[in-house]
Amino acid sequence: MPQTVVDEIRTNLFRAVIPLPRNPLKATNSYIIKSRERNLIIDTGMNREECKSALLNALDQIDLDLKNTDFFVTHLHADHVGLVDELSSDGALIYFNRPDAEILNHPNLWQLVCSLAGRHGFPAELVNLAIDSHPGQRYSPKNVLDFTMVEDGDIISYGGYELQCIRTPGHTGGHTCLYDLGDRLFFSGDHILGDITPNISTWLDESNPLDDYFKSLNRVYKMEIELVLPGHRSLFKDCRSRIEQLREHHIIRLNEAEEIIRKNNGANAFEVAAEMTWDLVADSWNDFPLMQKWFATGEALAHICYLENQGRVKREMQGQTMVFYI
Ligand SMILES: [Zn+2]
Repeated sequence: MPQTVVDEIRTNLFRAVIPLPRNPLKATNSYIIKSRERNLIIDTGMNREECKSALLNALDQIDLDLKNTDFFVTHLHADHVGLVDELSSDGALIYFNRPDAEILNHPNLWQLVCSLAGRHGFPAELVNLAIDSHPGQRYSPKNVLDFTMVEDGDIISYGGYELQCIRTPGHTGGHTCLYDLGDRLFFSGDHILGDITPNISTWLDESNPLDDYFKSLNRVYKMEIELVLPGHRSLFKDCRSRIEQLREHHIIRLNEAEEIIRKNNGANAFEVAAEMTWDLVADSWNDFPLMQKWFATGEALAHICYLENQGRVKREMQGQTMVFYI
C-alpha cells in the first residue's frame, strides 16, 4: 500500500491527504493535532476501507495513538464524518453541530430526499439509482453517534492550539469552521476551498442555503486569516480574494439560472440544471455521470430558491412537478 501524504504545517499540526477513490474531489484533507495530552483529528474521509487504511497509515507515520484522540467534524458529508465511528475509542469526544447531526441521524432522510427529487423533475427511473450510489448513503457512519455539540463561539483547546468554532451555514445547514486564535489559521471545511468551488445545494423547498452562504462568506471576510486549511486540495493564504471570487461565481450562476428560466418558462430544477454550464468533462448533459446530475440539480435548485426570495422567479405545482417561471 502506498504511504499516505502527510505534511507538518505547524508544530504538531499535520495534514493527511486521504484519497477518495473514483470521486472528482480526489481527496479529503484530514488535519491532526498531536499533543502530550489528547490529540484532535479534524475530518476523516469516507467510511470505506481505502480511506481508513490511508488515515491509519498517516497516524502511524506520526506515531499517534487513537486511544487518546478526539474528533471534530466540520459538516455532515460522508467524506468528512465517515470514519469517526470506526476510529473513535471509548470515551472519545466527537465534536459536531446540531443542525447537521439532526440530518445525519434522521430516520427517514432518504425517503424524504427521494420524494423531493421527484418533485423537482429528477427522472423517476434514476432517483433510486442515484440514492443507491450517493456517497452519503454508502459511506457515512453506520451507527447513530453520540456527538458533543458545539455552538458558534465555543473554544476547544488541543496541543496549545485554541480553536474557536465559527458557524458558517451554506454548504450544509450547520457547517462549522475552526479558527486558531494564536496563528490565525482557518480550518475551513468545505465553506471556502481554493482550487474548486464548494457545492451549494438544496432539496428542501423552504430553505435558502445560498443566502446563508453569502452571509457566512461576508462574516469570514471580516476575519483576520493568515492561512486557510480547506477540506480539499491545497492550503492557501489570501482568503479575502478567494471569497470575492466565490461571490462573483454565484452571482454569475444566479444570472444564468434566471436567463434559463426566462427562456424556458415552466422549467423544473432538473431542466434548469441541464442548461447551466458545469465545470465537467462531458460532451452533453446526457453524458454526465448520474451523481453529477444529482448534485447539479440540487445546486440549480439552491440558485432558484435564492432568485425566488429576491422576487426574480416564481413557482407553481404542475401535476406532480414544481416548475418555475418569470
Ligand atoms: Zn461537503
